Amino acid sequence: MLQRLKTDFRLSIITLLGVSAFLGVTPFAVMRFLQGNLLAGLVDTAILLAIGSALVYAWVTGDTRRSGLVVASTACSGAVVVGIVVGEPGLFWLYPALVTTFFLVNPRMAVALNVASVVALMVHGGAFRSDVQMWSFASTAFVVSACAYVFAHRNHDQRQRLEHLATIDPLTGIKNRRSMDQELDLAVANSERTGLPYALALLDIDHFKKINDEHGHGVGDNVLIDLVALLQQNTRKSDQLFRYGGEEFVLLLSGVDGVSLNAVMSNLQQVLRKYMKHPGGMVTVSFGVALLEQGESVDSWLARADAALYEAKETGRDRIVFADSHSPPELVTATA
Ligand code: GH3
Ligand code: MG
Ligand code: MG
Repeated sequence: MLQRLKTDFRLSIITLLGVSAFLGVTPFAVMRFLQGNLLAGLVDTAILLAIGSALVYAWVTGDTRRSGLVVASTACSGAVVVGIVVGEPGLFWLYPALVTTFFLVNPRMAVALNVASVVALMVHGGAFRSDVQMWSFASTAFVVSACAYVFAHRNHDQRQRLEHLATIDPLTGIKNRRSMDQELDLAVANSERTGLPYALALLDIDHFKKINDEHGHGVGDNVLIDLVALLQQNTRKSDQLFRYGGEEFVLLLSGVDGVSLNAVMSNLQQVLRKYMKHPGGMVTVSFGVALLEQGESVDSWLARADAALYEAKETGRDRIVFADSHSPPELVTATA
């Protein structure tokens, strides 16, 4: 639960607003019923019910877009109705609503909701004692909205940048191991649900340390960049490439059976043999390949591919080894 609040920003805002609304609005709802102001009490109750339902919906379905829109519209329209029914003291409720819209819906929708709320109160006019007070309210609402917009925009920007830093390998521009873990989990779940076959190829550059030692780190870096470019050019858009470690990569292929996998891997090997070069000559790559078995875990799948890669290295490098389904894996070697 805490993890979901940490990773899903919009869900955390919906939850914050839901809990604040419960704590902040409930006493007023009770008080208004006790004072005999039935209409105001019913408005408060309706706001609580709408925000509460959206909160439950967000937690159950994970659909924070729709629930965010419901919460933002309820908060704004609720604050307007409270302003109209209760008068001047009710106006203050609009401020928290104006701030949170920018964190719950897209900026255009937030601006529309905020402007509509302020204009509605101004057109009705009943909550204001004078024109000066009405325009002061409009000006402060504008300042609050502008600050919230800037803050929400910067926050969104920074979260995107952090996500990029956390998931993308800076040298090659492909996804890193952290993203790979998530994608492999998704692949296993998807395969269980739909039966779509998946395969995983672990690639490791042969004698890469020697390239670095003899020609420098910069040349080694360029080899890594070239390898990624070649792999991306020669695989389908639906296939995903990850940098697993230093000079190791993982290629996740979907919709492949044993026969097509064999053809894809042999083709890749040919392309790499033809085009992978460094100032000292050829660069070769070893492959460990494993098809996802029914009911298999990510760890077991990776371990079988890793054992196959180890076998490829042990038996001479520059080769593809296919792991079969047994553990410890029996291996089939293809040297093309
Ligand atoms: P093998 O054929 O058994 O795979 O031998 P290898 O030399 O490729 O493997 P080893 O694990 O001994 O060396 C990997 C090297 O990769 C060591 C490390 O310095 C280098 N390396 C790791 N990350 C980077 C990087 O980002 N850039 C460069 N240039 N080198 C890197
Ligand atoms: Mg290596
Ligand atoms: Mg290695």
